[in-house]
Amino acid sequence: MGKAEHFNGLTPAEAERLALLLEEMGEAQHIIGKVLRHGYTSCSPFDAQGTINRVLLEKEVGDVMAALDLLYAANDLSASKTEESRQRKHKTVRRYLHHQPSGDNSSS
Ligand SMILES: [Mg+2]
Repeated sequence: MGKAEHFNGLTPAEAERLALLLEEMGEAQHIIGKVLRHGYTSCSPFDAQGTINRVLLEKEVGDVMAALDLLYAANDLSASKTEESRQRKHKTVRRYLHHQPSGDNSSS
């Protein structure tokens, strides 16, 4: 390991992509908190445009997906492995949910 190499072995580009993903996930979490406290149709009294929380969450989830796209494009993560995990989760999560409609409504 060279002197300039970071202990985690990440290149600056890899670290930057992860930082972006982390930030966008944090922004999505922030809006999820707003939805849980105030509802989907509420908006911040400080938002002059009156953007409701649903729209804000749609934006931030899209930002997360864009950040993931960068990781996939750079082969930091495997899109197919992620998809396998997503499908597996659809099969297993329902038994732990208490308020969702029964039946398979996965997007596959
Ligand atoms: Mg964002």
